[in-house]
Amino acid sequence: MPYEDLREFLTDLRERGQLVQVDRSVSPHLELSLITKELNDRQGPAVLFTNVQGSPLPVVTNLFPSRERAAMALGVGVDDMRDRWIEAMRAPLEPVTVDRAACKEIIRDSAALTQIIPQIVWHERDGGPYLPFGLCICKDPDTGRRNMAIYRIHMKGGNKVGMKLQPPQHGGVCYAKAEARGEPLQIAIAIGGDPALYIASQAVTGFGVDEIGLAGRLRGAPVELVKCETVDLEVPAGAEIVLEGRVLPGVREAEGPFGEFQGYYSGASMRQVVEFTAITHRRDPIYLATYEGRPPTNTHVLQAIAREPRYFTQIRDYVCPTVKDVYVTLGGAACYHVWVSIHQQAAGQAKNVALELLKSHLVKHVIVVDDDIDVRDPLQMEWVLATRVQADRDVLILPGMASQHLDPSQPAHPSGLGCKMAIDATIPYGHDYDKVEFSPDLVERVRANWGAYGLR
Ligand code: MN
Repeated sequence: MPYEDLREFLTDLRERGQLVQVDRSVSPHLELSLITKELNDRQGPAVLFTNVQGSPLPVVTNLFPSRERAAMALGVGVDDMRDRWIEAMRAPLEPVTVDRAACKEIIRDSAALTQIIPQIVWHERDGGPYLPFGLCICKDPDTGRRNMAIYRIHMKGGNKVGMKLQPPQHGGVCYAKAEARGEPLQIAIAIGGDPALYIASQAVTGFGVDEIGLAGRLRGAPVELVKCETVDLEVPAGAEIVLEGRVLPGVREAEGPFGEFQGYYSGASMRQVVEFTAITHRRDPIYLATYEGRPPTNTHVLQAIAREPRYFTQIRDYVCPTVKDVYVTLGGAACYHVWVSIHQQAAGQAKNVALELLKSHLVKHVIVVDDDIDVRDPLQMEWVLATRVQADRDVLILPGMASQHLDPSQPAHPSGLGCKMAIDATIPYGHDYDKVEFSPDLVERVRANWGAYGLR
């Protein structure tokens, strides 16, 4: 059975010993952030803070420190997650609309924004408190197709926030269309709800694909939506808190700095402003948040598991049907580094595989290896780099490509113009290297006898 909301997931986590409660008074200024980061780094339990200074709401963080936790949220084994994702992309499950919703128990004026949302400062040099884990829902002004994603939100006091909506992110595309007409973009920000919504929000899809449909298939049942009060949008009925508002056309104000997902501060820039029009929430809302910053974080886990199935199907369908595994690394901020293993069918195929991935602005370095290598094992990856690569033959350098703009090593940062690299670490097609290994039969026999040797 899928989880109906955040609370059901928290109950399950508590029963499994994967939720801890902190009742001691904790400062929203860096202290809550650092406790969360430490738990994240230890792949520790989720945490419920019941006494955050200045906040009437309890705060939950560290829901997704590992692939295992994300798989648990979907009710699948970690090895089955890729197939579940591929199925969701193939056949999204449309949401249903309901009339009554938990997220509507209380309906308030937008002036209550700073009373409701805990003002959490996550990094020492951030421009202010940030709301890091809101599901931002909007519609394409041309087609009415819905989009759901997580964007960074700078709390500025009053009923306004700063937001980073940058194309080719889909929310940024929707906003650009609305602004070109001189209209605001209606937006709703849902906090909490079924964890599948958070997983789906990180999907790599074409513009126009509704992430809420993906969430439905990922969780195995349609998501229930309810109409908003002041904007023409629908939001997950089981959310804890919903902020309704409009991204103003023609308005830019300083937003940032913020400690970003690639591990560096991104400076302040003139960015979009959201003016809220209503707030709805449960009678006793829980505020869900997450630590963003230097990898690995919860967000990197969600991004890695969302990107791998997309890249896998791309390679399988267009370049190499015999692809074995695609690994988006956490150290690469679940963005820049993709390691791929393939069974080669033609000379040079590994380089084509690499180019298929490098066409994404997100991907910076690709390593392609043969299918005898486990791309998720750093020691094996280092071994093939050491023994199967001749740099003059196997390294492709591609300067001047549109790239993820937060990479601070780019020469004209933050222009987004960057250099990409592919490493073909496969054995040249038709050749073989004289690899030292034991025959599978012998390995199996010795392992079967392990106990008989008196070994454990
Ligand atoms: Mn989208």
